[in-house]
Amino acid sequence: MPTVREIEQALFALAPKELAAGWDNVGHLLGDPDQTVKRVLVALDITEAVADEALAAGCGLIVAHHPVMNCKWLPVQTVRSDTPQGHLLLKLLRSGVSAICMHTNLDVTEGGVNDRLAQVLELADPGPLGDPEGLCRMGKLTRPMTLEAFARFVCKALGANGVRYAGAGKMVERVAVGGGACGEYQEFAIAAGCDTFVTADLTYHTFLDAAGKGINLIDAGHFPTEDPVCETLVSYLTERFPDLSVRKSASHREVIQYIIND
Ligand SMILES: [Zn+2]
Repeated sequence: MPTVREIEQALFALAPKELAAGWDNVGHLLGDPDQTVKRVLVALDITEAVADEALAAGCGLIVAHHPVMNCKWLPVQTVRSDTPQGHLLLKLLRSGVSAICMHTNLDVTEGGVNDRLAQVLELADPGPLGDPEGLCRMGKLTRPMTLEAFARFVCKALGANGVRYAGAGKMVERVAVGGGACGEYQEFAIAAGCDTFVTADLTYHTFLDAAGKGINLIDAGHFPTEDPVCETLVSYLTERFPDLSVRKSASHREVIQYIIND
């Protein structure tokens, strides 16, 4: 059985640590590196429910995308059971469950979050968009379609509860993608001649300005645009460590619900 350290090394072979942003916190963040592991749970985030699922299934390791501690939005000053984050970290530590997080390094790497997103959206000839961080990808639809038809396709392909879109009324053919909060890269999609950009966490004003900038925008949600990479991690680890039992979390799914007026 592999150790947590060996699994971390294998994951860094897929998504090298040097690719991570300076503010990020990636790799084996919690637990004993020499612990051997039989079962691994893969999830986009380590929530309290994901931790409970790992415990119930006897998983000694959780592999996640978003860091469980100490990145830009989640500073850790204390680990106390009376805060939600402290409660979670203590639960993992007390139960001997390790955590490995592969974040911006997995966004950027070949075969990572954004290549997976381009694949799920069936983009032909996928390649880099040319943004400075190397996050986003672009590709072509085999058949052009209207923005509404493409938005429906995206919603279905990603299993999203809903998508938000606005745009220039252009037919969709040349598509840029950036999983998670990649709205700031829309200028690169425009510069690359893309008619449509699929990303998440867009604001009202960004949608409002889309038509004037000549681009269609689709916000398909942070979870739906990134979660497909979990399957990549499951197959990668299963292939690298045939004795290891690796599965995707069944409890972690999109939390955002939509009500639509007919
Ligand atoms: Zn994300």
